[in-house]
Amino acid sequence: MPKQLLIATKNQGKVREYRELLADLPFEVVSLADVGLDVDVEETGSTFEENAILKARTYAHLSGLLTWADDSGLAVDALGGWPGVHSARVAGPNASDADRIQLLLQRLQGVPPKERTAAFHCVVAIAAPDGRVWTTEGTCSGVILEQPEGAGGFGYDPVFFMPAMGCTFAQLTSQEKNAVSHRGIAARKAKALLARLVEAGEI
Ligand code: IMP
Repeated sequence: MPKQLLIATKNQGKVREYRELLADLPFEVVSLADVGLDVDVEETGSTFEENAILKARTYAHLSGLLTWADDSGLAVDALGGWPGVHSARVAGPNASDADRIQLLLQRLQGVPPKERTAAFHCVVAIAAPDGRVWTTEGTCSGVILEQPEGAGGFGYDPVFFMPAMGCTFAQLTSQEKNAVSHRGIAARKAKALLARLVEAGEI
């Protein structure tokens, strides 16, 4: 019977993607819904790492399972790293992706193209029920456009132009985005870490 690995997110899209990524590891990947956990963890940390650890540790403690959690967001250089850990919540609790993009573009009004640099960050934290925790991170650099372009992806994707790809994140297929994105990078590192921990008999 394989050991269970809990993916601590309420986003079913993320659960599906992580389940696919981790399919060849010796774990049964389960979601919060699968284990009947309907608890929200308040993201009170001031860094992506603190929030990812907070979520992974809390859900590992509540479930008694090895737990994978992530935290991510956009940091815009000309805005001192804003919206950062507040990426999902700026513009209010009921705001849409379009509202958040509009707010970002407003704040960047008049900022010339070469000063519109930004990066997406993602930290994956893996926590054991005994309190041990490991983290990996991924970063992806780009430029914030003045107008949205492309219809794919989510969040700030339509205004995040990646020079190395020559288009916005919203103009990539999910596979193409995954190959270069902050979340893809952090997740592949975390998968490799899990494999090493299993190999070493630590988990
Ligand atoms: P979370 O880590 O799922 O809580 O994501 C935080 C927020 O950061 C999201 O709601 C988006 O606003 C933003 N974000 C994180 N990753 C991406 C991405 O890949 N594309 C666009 N926006 C993102």
